[in-house]
Amino acid sequence: MNRDSKIFVAGHRGLVGSALVRRLLAEGAENVVTRDRVELDLTDAKAVDEFFESVRPEYVFVAAAKVGGILANATYPADFLRENLAIELAVVGAAHRYGVEKLLFLGSSCIYPKFAPQPMKEEHLLTGELEPTNEPYAVAKIAGIKLCQAYREQYGANFISAMPTNLYGPGDNFDLATSHVLPALIRKFHEAKEREDPSVTVWGSGKPRREFLHVDDLADACVYLMRNYSSGEVVNVGVGRDVAISELAELVREVVGYQGLISYDPAKPDGTPRKLLDVGRLHKLGWKARTPLREGIEKTYAWFREASLTRA
Ligand code: GDP
Repeated sequence: MNRDSKIFVAGHRGLVGSALVRRLLAEGAENVVTRDRVELDLTDAKAVDEFFESVRPEYVFVAAAKVGGILANATYPADFLRENLAIELAVVGAAHRYGVEKLLFLGSSCIYPKFAPQPMKEEHLLTGELEPTNEPYAVAKIAGIKLCQAYREQYGANFISAMPTNLYGPGDNFDLATSHVLPALIRKFHEAKEREDPSVTVWGSGKPRREFLHVDDLADACVYLMRNYSSGEVVNVGVGRDVAISELAELVREVVGYQGLISYDPAKPDGTPRKLLDVGRLHKLGWKARTPLREGIEKTYAWFREASLTRA
């Protein structure tokens, strides 16, 4: 992948896709192709085929997906399964048919079994039952991985897959009903501070442990893998460290500067007890995450405040 390669970032408006575009432009990429939802419906296989036929991208990052937090997954299971499968079938299939040089598919750490040994290694895929709260999403992502591997096996296509851990950063979804925990907490503490509320409610017990990767680090890893990795085996992308949700809440409270209390709502689901990736394979390949969690939260909070000023 060079400066003048034609690179299609599918899903460039999302958290991951926008970080990828920033990363590629920062290193001087001159031929980054994007299409928004109105221009190209990525679940429409015919439209995607026509796009590949006329544009002929050489490199493809599949950052397009229907994503959401624990509640969104439970509320819209059919949408999560169907839309993700449709995007994968359309984009990966067209990439093969129109001779894409290399494609990177983005999965998720929720593809691993609910009770996989921690930290989770790539070989734990399909060794046990999935976490029910995001099973439809996980099944679709596993299908995407298998599709890439199958095209490699049957046709020799150079399609690779990366499994990022929980992501956060600028451009995240801060809607409390559908977001993931980190942006939700930023918003909750920020609004509680503004309103001088006495306490903030965190869902579940606060005990589950999660790993958080800044999306700019993920984008850097994806570009690195596009250049340096050509195997069908999936690669985990994470920081190799996790925190309890209660610790995360404390950290966000400090960054936001909220003085009130934290309470827990046990009526909300905890989800999987722990989700930490083993990043040994990625470290061996020569890549490590750079952004410390506190610094990443500070940057994301700064972005959120800026974005709320623009909205207001
Ligand atoms: P998950 O990693 O797929 O379980 O997705 P989430 O990021 O949505 O949730 C991670 C953990 O954070 C779960 O145990 C949630 O119950 C907990 N959590 C605590 N407060 C919140 C909140 O305000 N929003 C969300 N989405 N999760 C929260």
